[in-house]
Amino acid sequence: MHELGITQEIVALAESRAGGRRVRGVVVEIGKLTAVLPDAVRFCFDLCTKGTLVEGAVLTIVETLGSARCLACGSVLQLDQPFGQCPCGCTDLDWLTGEELRITEIEIELEETS
Ligand SMILES: [Zn+2]
Repeated sequence: MHELGITQEIVALAESRAGGRRVRGVVVEIGKLTAVLPDAVRFCFDLCTKGTLVEGAVLTIVETLGSARCLACGSVLQLDQPFGQCPCGCTDLDWLTGEELRITEIEIELEETS
């Protein structure tokens, strides 16, 4: 289950960007072609955030569809798996999207004004 390691990295990155403040929300973009399961990341997120500044944060996962351009005829295909074949028969594809795995947004708690 490599989602555990990936989730640990996401949490560590969110924490370092927060600069010591609590993180309230994290938006992560996961491409369909990464073979990372969003449900597994959600499951690991609760475990990985325990005792960190990210604990209790809302995790939002945005799945990006895979697409690729055929190197033979130039058509752009939609893919939901990391392989495919163009209607022209060619399997030489140039990935355009779907390999993303990154934090796109972090919501940080505003500092208390007491
Ligand atoms: Zn083609």
